[in-house]
Amino acid sequence: MMKTYGFAATSCDAPLAPFSFERRELRDNDIAMDILYCGVCHSDLHQARNDWGWSQYPMVPGHEIVGRVTATGKAVTRYKVGDAVAVGCMVDSCQTCDQCRKGEEQLCRAGNTQTYNDKDRITGERTYGGYSKHLVVREEFALKVPETLDLSRAAPLLCAGITTYSPLRTWNVGPGSRVGVIGLGGLGHMAVKLASGMGADVTVLSRSNAKEKDALALGADRLLVSTDEAAMAKAASSFDLIIDTVPVKHDLNPYMPLLDVDGTLVLVGQVGPLNEPSTVPLIMGRRRIAGSPIGGIAQTQEMLDFCGRKNILPDCEMIRMDQINEAFDRLERSDVHYRFVIDMATLTPDTAAA
Ligand code: NAP
Ligand code: ZN
Repeated sequence: MMKTYGFAATSCDAPLAPFSFERRELRDNDIAMDILYCGVCHSDLHQARNDWGWSQYPMVPGHEIVGRVTATGKAVTRYKVGDAVAVGCMVDSCQTCDQCRKGEEQLCRAGNTQTYNDKDRITGERTYGGYSKHLVVREEFALKVPETLDLSRAAPLLCAGITTYSPLRTWNVGPGSRVGVIGLGGLGHMAVKLASGMGADVTVLSRSNAKEKDALALGADRLLVSTDEAAMAKAASSFDLIIDTVPVKHDLNPYMPLLDVDGTLVLVGQVGPLNEPSTVPLIMGRRRIAGSPIGGIAQTQEMLDFCGRKNILPDCEMIRMDQINEAFDRLERSDVHYRFVIDMATLTPDTAAA
């Protein structure tokens, strides 16, 4: 076993604190990596606070992981020591069901293994995430980071990036598509950059106009204030796809009339009940409400390569590991521009022992 350390939540109301633990010995198809950077996703906050009701403690969050390979198991073929690699929300799946065989491991019939707050499929040991120094992962669940991408900014692509890229691809977004993005946070700002990179006409739907300048700078064509009823009425039937990233229970009814005929509102935010949506705009406009979880490994690599070619990177605010609790508080207040990334060089045995 490899001794390592990180930051963990020990209960739903305790701040994250230093935590020592072990990573498994390398299996034949495993790589070991030093974690250099880890993004801070709102899902980390949901899970640390047990918003979804299935949290196990202690929990080391973190599923936007970038680092370098330090060792390889004897059957590893894709990676060598020194390679820049990334790991997202999954570290394993059955690999045999129809979904896995199609490269949709996130939809594995037997359930994928999550990077943290889950159990290893072989030993049943708890999985611990990227708010830590080292990681061991089977090579099939590691991604290659294109050389052109700045490693210090690439980590959020592994969740915020793929979670927004995947629905853009599912609903065939391209030049001329009219895309709305509800909520300009971590996922929202990646949705804007990716949709705009695909040539779409992009509108940010935000609760106020405070982020208008940012939205335009990120590549959006305009910002629509979702609380402005007159502006919302004017935008009726003007979107093909709306990606909803709101992290709390909310009302879809103001957004449904914005979709054109056959348009889709895809939920990626929050996990749980919503306020009751009315069937009227759904039926009358043949509109749809859909959901989408992250994306498969092959598509995650496709997204990284797309970002490499287009030089698309998140806007990051680098933090020290010991600033994580403050970052969680700010995330809760939507005070993030637009993704916190932990510089893992700031996590030392001293920080961990402090
Ligand atoms: P985030 O950075 O906190 O951004 C969420 C944005 O939603 C905020 O910036 C804000 O934008 C808007 N918002 C916040 N509170 C709101 C409220 N009370 N009412 C309306 N809008 C509100 O969060 P994130 O990291 O992007 O994650 C967003 C959600 O996606 C979370 O629920 C997360 O768990 C989920 N998620 C899902 C998947 C998946 O696979 N489907 C993957 C990753 C994350 P404005 O200020 O512009 O309104
Ligand atoms: Zn995430």
